[in-house]
Amino acid sequence: MDKRKTVAEINEKIKKGEAVVLTAEEFKQMVRNEEPVTAEDIDVVTCATCAIMSGTAAILSIPVAERNEFERADKVWLNGIPAFPGPCPNERLGIVDVFVYGTARANHEYGGGHLFREIVEGKQIEVKVKVGTSDRNRIIERRISKEDLQFARMITTRSSFKNYMAFVNPEEGEVRSIFSVRGLKGPYKEISVTGSGEINPLENDPLLKTIGIGTKIMVNGAMGYVIGEGTRSSREKPNLSVIADMHGMDAEFMGGFVTSTGPECITSIAVPIPVISEEVFSNLKIMDEEIKLPIADIHDRIPFAESNYAAVWQDTDLEIHFDADRCVQCDVDVCDVEEYCPTNAFSRSKGIDVYRCFNCGACIFLCPGGAFKGNLGRIKIHDKDKEVPITLRQSNRSKANKLAKKLKNQIVEREFLLTEPCDYLR
Ligand code: SF4
Repeated sequence: MDKRKTVAEINEKIKKGEAVVLTAEEFKQMVRNEEPVTAEDIDVVTCATCAIMSGTAAILSIPVAERNEFERADKVWLNGIPAFPGPCPNERLGIVDVFVYGTARANHEYGGGHLFREIVEGKQIEVKVKVGTSDRNRIIERRISKEDLQFARMITTRSSFKNYMAFVNPEEGEVRSIFSVRGLKGPYKEISVTGSGEINPLENDPLLKTIGIGTKIMVNGAMGYVIGEGTRSSREKPNLSVIADMHGMDAEFMGGFVTSTGPECITSIAVPIPVISEEVFSNLKIMDEEIKLPIADIHDRIPFAESNYAAVWQDTDLEIHFDADRCVQCDVDVCDVEEYCPTNAFSRSKGIDVYRCFNCGACIFLCPGGAFKGNLGRIKIHDKDKEVPITLRQSNRSKANKLAKKLKNQIVEREFLLTEPCDYLR
C-alpha cells in the first residue's frame, strides 16, 4: 500500500456501504488458504474476546426511596451481593449510587457476573439498603429492574489480555483456584487454559497503532470505549480498561462462572481494527501457532514452560455438544454436570442451553457416561514426555467469533463508525 488509509476515509466507505469488513476468523481463514489478499483489499477486521474477566465492575444509580426518606446509605446489597455506596452519596434524594464488583458474591454460587447478566436480561433485582446512623440503622428494601436504572455502566480494570496463560498442578492432590471447576488435579493430570489466541484484539494490533484511549468498541454487545490501559498492563502484555452502557448489552456475552473458589465474571469485548497501513495489515496475519502460551504452576503462577495457542484452538472443537442417548442416568439425585456446570447451562431434561453455555468443556470430564462431546486438545509440556489434557477453557472462542461477527454486521449496516484514539496507550 503506497498510501496510508485514514480512519476518516474508511468511515466514508462505511457510510457509502463500500467498506470491506471481515471478522478475524474470516481473515485468518483467507491467510491460511493463502488467498492473495492485500492491505488495499480490506478496510476493517473485527477482533474479539469472551472470557473470565475478574476486573469487571458496574456503577449503578438506583432509586430506592422517596426524597427525604433517609439521610445517607450506609450499606447496599443487590440480590444479596454487597455493593459499595458512593462516592456521591445523593443525600436525601432517595437515590444511591453504588459500585459493584464482578467478583463480589452473595454465596459460593452467585456473584457479580450473575447479577450483571440478570440486570441486562431485565430480571427483577432485590435491593436492600442500610441507611445511616441518624436513621437508626433502618433497612429499606426495593425491587428494581433495568428500566429503573437511569445510569448503569460497566467498566473493566483489566480486560482483553494479550496472550494469557495456562495453569497446571505439578504436585500430588488437587488445588482449588479460579482456574478450575472442582480443583486442578496433579501431578500434571490436567491443564486449564485462558486466552482467545489469534482473534484477540491486542494480538492483532500488538504495537497499539489503532487501539488507544477513545477507541470505540463493543462490550457485551453494546457500544463502548477504551478508557486506557488496565492494571498490570505492560508494553509486552498489554490489556485494556473499557466502559460501556449496560442498557444495550446482550446477556449472551456475559454472566457468572462458578469456579472451585467461587463465582467469577464473564465479559466480552470486540474491537474493530482499521487497516490503515501495511504494518497494521501485516500484524493482522498473526496465527495461533505463533502466539506463545506460557504454562504456569498453579501454586505460584510463575510460568515454567511454554506452548502456543494452536494447541488450544486448532483441530479442536470450539463448541461442546450433549448426546442424550449416551446419558447413563447416573444413580444419584443430581448429576455432576447439573451440579458443577459453571454457568448452570445444563439440565438432563433440556440438555445444554447454548445461550448460556460457555463451551468451557468441564462437562466432558464431569460426565462418567461420556455424553458430552468436544475435543479440547492436549498440551505437551517440554520436560515431560506425555501430553496433558486440557480440561477447562476460560475463554470462549465460539462466542468471541459471534461477537466479532455482530460488530462486523453493525459496521456493514452503517450503524457503527470507527474512531481514532484521542491518545495512545503506554
Ligand atoms: S461446556 Fe459444559 S460445563 Fe461448560 S458451560 Fe457448557 S454445558 Fe456447562
